[in-house]
Amino acid sequence: MPRQFFVGGNFKMNPGSREQKQALVKVLNEANIDGSTEVVIAPPSLYLIPLKEIVRKDIQVAAQNCYVKNSGAFTGEISPVQLVDAGIPYVILGHSERRTLFHETSELVAQKTRAAIDASLKIILCVGETLQEREAGETAIVVQKQLQAAVDLLKESDYSQIVVAYEPVWAIGTGKVATSAQAQEAHADIRSYLAKAVSPAVAESTRIIYGGSVTAANCKELSTQPDVDGFLVGGASLKPEFVDIINAKK
Ligand code: PEP
Repeated sequence: MPRQFFVGGNFKMNPGSREQKQALVKVLNEANIDGSTEVVIAPPSLYLIPLKEIVRKDIQVAAQNCYVKNSGAFTGEISPVQLVDAGIPYVILGHSERRTLFHETSELVAQKTRAAIDASLKIILCVGETLQEREAGETAIVVQKQLQAAVDLLKESDYSQIVVAYEPVWAIGTGKVATSAQAQEAHADIRSYLAKAVSPAVAESTRIIYGGSVTAANCKELSTQPDVDGFLVGGASLKPEFVDIINAKK
């Protein structure tokens, strides 16, 4: 079965005001969107419920993070069960900003992934190498290690809830997009790793999306690559061009 194209918008800690949020939603609600693409937007947690209420129903909402526990004395955290209770179907885990700025290890990301799956959330699991790691020829091994931590805690049936986002750190928010050959190579490596570490069926069905300075100008070429199943978009998801990225395959 062909993998459904997937486009996620990671709003990060944006938009800065309620008016900007409403303007963004207006663009999406009025847009002509490719119905064969799965679309998810991830606003800050404060806006999850209000945004879900005003955005069109064929666009789903994702949290940008969650904790490993379902309740308790964990000030400032949101639990997987709370997200499900609020009707939020997806969570982004392991984003490079969480790994770098908030010191999240692959082991913690794996535990969060396990907890999110147990709560019936779907996960956009982010992995990717730094520039230094790429220049040292370590891309495949770094990405494998990040994935391995999660693979160790998952069973084969869990992968239907996972979208893997390959996001090279050097491309996130920098305007330096990976070439389509670089993206394809990394995605193919992830797929062959999944075939070996989990199963050929999981490798074939799991969506692997690319993130890192995707724009309306570069999305079409990237989307022609056989192992690029969509995008995770940061900066451009706050602009009208997000619609063109959603429609990259149209
Ligand atoms: C991201 O934050 O996941 C991302 C890919 O950002 P940008 O598109 O701005 O590079």
